[in-house]
Amino acid sequence: MIVPDDAFGRRRTDADAPAIPHRPGVRWWYAPLTELPGVGKATADRAAAIGVHDLGDLLEHLPSRYLAYDSARPVSGLAEGEEATVRVVLDSISVIPTRRRGLKMVRAKVHDATGSIAAVWFNQGYLAGVLAPGDELMIRGQVKLRPSRQITVKAHEVLGSQASEGLHTEGLVPVYPATEALPARRLRELVDAARPYVSSAPEVLPQWMRERVKVGTRADALAALHFPRTAREPRSARRRLAFEELLVLQMGLIAVRRHDETARRALPLPATGEITGVIRAALPFTLTREQERVAREVARDITRPQPMRRLLQGEVGAGKTVVAALACAQAVEAGAQAAILVPTETLAEQHLRTLDSLLAPAGIEPVLITGNVPKAERERREMAVATGTARVVVGTQALLVGGVEFDRLGLVVVDEQHRFGVEQRQALAEQAGDDGMAAHLLYMTATPIPHTLALTAYGDLRVSAIRGRPPGRSEIATRWVRDAEREMAYDDVRAELRRGRQAYVICPLVEDGESGIAGRSAVAEFTRLRQGPFAAFRVGLAHGAQRPDERRAAMAAFAAGETDILVATTVVEVGIDVQNATVMLIEDADRFGLAQLHQLRGRVGRGEHAGTCLIFAEPGGEEGMRRLEALVQTNDGFRLADIDLEIRGEGSILGLRQSGATDLRFARLSRDRRTLAQARQVARATLRRDPHLEEPEHVLLADAVRRAFPDLPRLLDA
Ligand code: ADP
Ligand code: MG
Repeated sequence: MIVPDDAFGRRRTDADAPAIPHRPGVRWWYAPLTELPGVGKATADRAAAIGVHDLGDLLEHLPSRYLAYDSARPVSGLAEGEEATVRVVLDSISVIPTRRRGLKMVRAKVHDATGSIAAVWFNQGYLAGVLAPGDELMIRGQVKLRPSRQITVKAHEVLGSQASEGLHTEGLVPVYPATEALPARRLRELVDAARPYVSSAPEVLPQWMRERVKVGTRADALAALHFPRTAREPRSARRRLAFEELLVLQMGLIAVRRHDETARRALPLPATGEITGVIRAALPFTLTREQERVAREVARDITRPQPMRRLLQGEVGAGKTVVAALACAQAVEAGAQAAILVPTETLAEQHLRTLDSLLAPAGIEPVLITGNVPKAERERREMAVATGTARVVVGTQALLVGGVEFDRLGLVVVDEQHRFGVEQRQALAEQAGDDGMAAHLLYMTATPIPHTLALTAYGDLRVSAIRGRPPGRSEIATRWVRDAEREMAYDDVRAELRRGRQAYVICPLVEDGESGIAGRSAVAEFTRLRQGPFAAFRVGLAHGAQRPDERRAAMAAFAAGETDILVATTVVEVGIDVQNATVMLIEDADRFGLAQLHQLRGRVGRGEHAGTCLIFAEPGGEEGMRRLEALVQTNDGFRLADIDLEIRGEGSILGLRQSGATDLRFARLSRDRRTLAQARQVARATLRRDPHLEEPEHVLLADAVRRAFPDLPRLLDA
């Protein structure tokens, strides 16, 4: 199996994207900005720097907000202290030195039919050379009537130039995301210059669909966003663009799934019970109802000749591994092999141990293949995989990328895979399996994903969830400790240690001053705690900058009860299971993501003793407060994920930036839930009616879907 260079990780550049078929009438959408009157190469380059390459990009560069100015008023009617817009003629202009050094003031006399007033600009001396008596101006500014009538200018524009009247000074004035080189004012002018094009913006949504979901045309939406007449217009226009974006995404995801299910064959892996039965009988516990349900779903999926694409969500400790082990056992009893991929070598070693004990009763010995295995031994193991002697293989991604040959690979389990996007998943799916056969794929993640996000980021997968934790687990009480209560909290921890329990202390940094951020570091806390508050106890240290064997030794000593406290960074987030540890103390908790904090606290309360999580934080902002309060209030990872989505937005939760097609420009999942549901429904209905989007009215829609998934050129073919 050979993987092309860019099958994993690397995002393709625009240059790799397939050429877009030009349709009559939409050619201008891709025309360079220099097509616009008065726009030269310098401006076009500055626009390119913010991702605006052509006219279409410019019209999709949406305002982030609007300044609510009113319409021009007569000069005589201005009131003291108000902000207002006037339309005036310039009588005279001069630069006036002020008492403050370096501060220049430009003062002009202006009038309209009702009266006159002085207009004042600060620090724009050049204006005296630009504006001339007789110029007609629109001025927006702060009005002062005493001691003399004056308006301090916030924005002005010269009428009779190319731009539309009132562009910067009247009505709802759009504010664009801008740069110093290309300020919002200039962007406003560019969009204004492109105004004549708006009405012929290519329409992606066919008329029947617009009628059905009651949205207007793309042209109307763009006009409403750039040139709104009422404050409400932009809102429904943005929803229109969000709908289209989500629709295109859902269609692509449905097409990916359809492609997998119809165009590709997989080895059916029927259950005989021969091995799965032995393993089930040997389990030291009974599966929970949730585990049973998910195990059944997986068992049924992999009996089929279509490849399974399933995501299994469940928090750390929810019991996903058992489900995966049963699926592997079913693959083996069907005469196939199973591979389990994990992100790190440490995790691979841990999984090997777990699987080993689960599968041993049936006489199955999983083998480990990672970069840590010495070459000769690795070759021996690879041979066992190639000949089919090794039935279950555990390894990192390198296992597939590195060209390990399988005899008969039937199932691939990918643990903690939320860092991949849909294209990477497809690349993996193409690689897995042999003889043109696709492997069944089971993805597992401990990061609870809000339903809406799962539908967009994982819409190509079927999703199962194990909620909650297995019975017999104690709850975790979470307390937010403020600085003044630190010593009292240490008292509690010492009492717990004296009872024979153990504690983690998690710090955001390895060493003080790291990356120039303030915050507690593991190295400094280690020294401080073992000399001060915990001098009577044995303290260990584990962090990512240690040599791997040193770190492993520290974690092993803690696991064996040879140390009472483990001071660490998030290296303990995954891959450590110490049932005697009951306290988790997290320093500068506001530095961590909500999902990460939740995962961290899942490290305690794993055995018979109840767990306590103490979070130390003095967050600066409202957002930080809300997140920590949520953490204290609920132990439900899925609820927390929803809350996180609402507070922070989707991009920051999963690092979706890296996942290509699922980047969203117009939609916000936290507020567009209903739009998403509608888009899914319409996407399904449309593809049922016109599976390859071949009808003339769907041609632009098909283009849009292909553009959104540039790495999957044959997406709509199957
Ligand atoms: P995950 O992979 O979801 O993080 P694991 O499968 O590793 O969780 O399970 C965590 C722990 O819970 C393991 O020690 C496992 O043996 C135990 N466990 C799993 N299922 C059950 C169950 N139904 N009842 C009791 N303990 C369970
Ligand atoms: Mg696990």
